[in-house]
Amino acid sequence: MLNIDLHTHSSCSDGLFSPEELVRRAHANGARALAITDHDMVKGVAEARRACDAFGLDFVPGVEISITWNGRSVHVVGLQVDENHPGLISNLDENRNGRVERAEEISKKLEDLGIYGAFEGVLRQVADPIVISRKHFSRFLVDAKVCRTPTEAFDRFLKIGRPAYVFHEWTTLEKALGWIRDAGGVAVIAHPGRYEISEEALLRLFDEFKALGGVGIEVVTGSHGRDRYPYFARLARHYGFLASAGSDFHAPGESYLDIGALPDLPDGLTPVWHDWF
Ligand code: AMP
Ligand code: MN
Ligand code: MN
Ligand code: MN
Repeated sequence: MLNIDLHTHSSCSDGLFSPEELVRRAHANGARALAITDHDMVKGVAEARRACDAFGLDFVPGVEISITWNGRSVHVVGLQVDENHPGLISNLDENRNGRVERAEEISKKLEDLGIYGAFEGVLRQVADPIVISRKHFSRFLVDAKVCRTPTEAFDRFLKIGRPAYVFHEWTTLEKALGWIRDAGGVAVIAHPGRYEISEEALLRLFDEFKALGGVGIEVVTGSHGRDRYPYFARLARHYGFLASAGSDFHAPGESYLDIGALPDLPDGLTPVWHDWF
């Protein structure tokens, strides 16, 4: 199967590598095609495209849009979007609004727990505070020796139901799908195994997503375990969804899969890239 990675993050959002460094690492790991999918951000697309051209990789411009669905954060990946589409850019700008205020609130909650300096700690990591994500907080908590791993930071403090979680209202599923469609892209549900919702809710999400024109789900991802691939392969076949594959790479050691080093899709699926390359 084509060695392809359709979900990656650069330092334009909460990854540690520049777009060019991402492409270099993907190429070194044997990738033949790559998408860059920063959170609510397409600033890194041009640099990633140039680097893919230089290294001979097929390139897919992308974005990962944060939405609120049923009171929870869900991520939708848009692939083959036009990164210069003015509507897409302004809508993404708007969707990032509130990240700084939320970061202040998260920091306050950590202070209430006796953990100081979080806001300064995340500010130090970013060029522009508007991209601060909980990922930055997880790295701060590791650097501050409060947690051993970023995952532990989510499990103990940052995820829904934990003491430093702060709700944030992102855009809606319907709007995100409209932005992606208007920018010429296709929509894929990111890491469906990570949401910790009931199966009933998950199927409802898939129903709504399909009715609104969503075409695929990630079956292979570094953000849910390999044991979940067969389950999501079955659901993709059931719904007639195309299957996507992406590491969700942010930095070495932060997800189950390295960039450009993904296992094949399970049999019997149509890859989302079937008519792209
Ligand atoms: P935010 O956009 O601020 O809600 O942060 C979301 C980012 O945090 C995601 O892109 C992931 O990088 C990371 N993340 C969210 N949930 C988890 C989790 N349970 N374990 C590890 N990383 C997570
Ligand atoms: Mn992230
Ligand atoms: Mn995500
Ligand atoms: Mn991601």
